[in-house]
Amino acid sequence: MSRGLPCSAIGLSNPGNSGLAALRKRTIAALLSRTAKGSSAVIRQRTLKSIVSATGVGLHGGQRVELSLRPAAPDTGIVFRRVDLDPVVEMPADPYSVVDTRMCSGLQKGAAKVGTVEHLMSALAGLGIDNCYVDVDAPEIPILDGSAAPFVFLLQSAGFEFQNAPRRFLRVKKPVEYREGDKWVKLEPYDGFRLSFAIHFNHPAIDGTQTEATVDFSHQVYARDVARARTFGFMHEVEAMRNMGLALGGSLDNAIVMDEHRVLNPHGLRYDDEFVKHKILDAIGDLYLAGHPLLAAYSANKSGHALNNQILRVLLEDQEAWEIVSFEQETAVPEALRGQLALQPA
Ligand SMILES: [Zn+2]
Repeated sequence: MSRGLPCSAIGLSNPGNSGLAALRKRTIAALLSRTAKGSSAVIRQRTLKSIVSATGVGLHGGQRVELSLRPAAPDTGIVFRRVDLDPVVEMPADPYSVVDTRMCSGLQKGAAKVGTVEHLMSALAGLGIDNCYVDVDAPEIPILDGSAAPFVFLLQSAGFEFQNAPRRFLRVKKPVEYREGDKWVKLEPYDGFRLSFAIHFNHPAIDGTQTEATVDFSHQVYARDVARARTFGFMHEVEAMRNMGLALGGSLDNAIVMDEHRVLNPHGLRYDDEFVKHKILDAIGDLYLAGHPLLAAYSANKSGHALNNQILRVLLEDQEAWEIVSFEQETAVPEALRGQLALQPA
């Protein structure tokens, strides 16, 4: 979550008509079928070594929720599971399952929902986890401290395991963009993963910080440079949000909160550019709903969960604009991914 215009149901629900539904089916099939066969890959998929759990509250619903992260087989992807429902409902990470973008990214399948998935998805992307079951017993991922850092800690505590299958990247082959007024978002070809973001809140506490940032994972580290950036909101909006059933679990313990002039959190900010860094954290999570790590340069102005989801749909619906690639030869690995190569077991 971070403040943006509530644009929930406008044009973002699952494609109703058959044409789009068919296109969605074809796109997902293409995502899965364009996979390189065999496992002589030099960059391999990763899952967790063990199960980890945590308990917390939902940021928007305010309910207590228990979260468990479990290992999964190669090519499973990230799968959310409502284990409190009978039968258990499984929701694979997929851009077409995003139905709610009011202050979070929320997935839905039938009547079952899992909200506020973006921070956990961001941590999974940042640590290079391809396959994981995410079990929850309530309709929202716990907010914990409002950043991705507690999820990074949980995942690192579980440990990682390389799998006998190639890591499959979604490579952007040509530029795509999506605009709404002065808000825009772009994906462009790039042999690595880089994100640039600019925010404009016209608020003294934010304007006093760096409001533009670029993060490039060829030389920056997710856990150090991005993960600790917290979500943020404004006191004067709390009542309106609560009337809409949002932010019921919000507090100074899980968000940066500002009055008209300043940050109210006693310990201040964690990064000089924490606000724009959080938008980048959110974008990493929203983009990982593509179901594959991206090879692309992302750039955005005043974007949010709705636009991040739209740019994925625009990309996937243009079959010329992307391909799924994996790396069989070390020589084929782009410079920006050499860090991942170094992590691979011998
Ligand atoms: Zn967020």
